[in-house]
Amino acid sequence: MRSRSKPLHWDRDVDGPRLVLTSSVVNTVERRIPLCSGGVLRENVLYIAGFILPTVRVGVTVIAPQCVTGPGFYRTDADDHADVMAALMACRLHIVAQVHCHPGRGVSHSEIDDEEAIVRADGHWSVVVPHYGLHGILPLTQCGIHCYTQGEFRRLDGRAIATRVSIIPDWIDMRGDER
Ligand SMILES: [Zn+2]
Repeated sequence: MRSRSKPLHWDRDVDGPRLVLTSSVVNTVERRIPLCSGGVLRENVLYIAGFILPTVRVGVTVIAPQCVTGPGFYRTDADDHADVMAALMACRLHIVAQVHCHPGRGVSHSEIDDEEAIVRADGHWSVVVPHYGLHGILPLTQCGIHCYTQGEFRRLDGRAIATRVSIIPDWIDMRGDER
């Protein structure tokens, strides 16, 4: 991974904007992020779409955009983004986060990641998954989780992830075993 000319700042705010994902979104990301084509593992990018509320973004579905992928990069262009925006308008959702994978264990945003993010607006999230996503995204602390704050992507530390990023189960069973 290329080194940065500007430092990536940490976001240690435990009370900042939150991201909520359903467990089905997490499962879909884990299933779809590893991308192997022609016998070669490639970087991949997915978008998580959902609802934007004042202090929380809620992801409910996953979009695989058209993109060019390779062993150390992915690329999307304006046409790809326009197709995504059309799909979002059709279901009245917004992009709340993007997810992409890196080849190794380094999961900090590169400057190219900063520049090529589909959304750069306060509260937008960007998740970088290590090892081409082959080991999933859980625990979330193995990922680089970035929130766009004060004009830049900042990477959350472990405490901020624990308090601001949550996964809602698809099924909550309060009946016990005896019924
Ligand atoms: Zn990257």
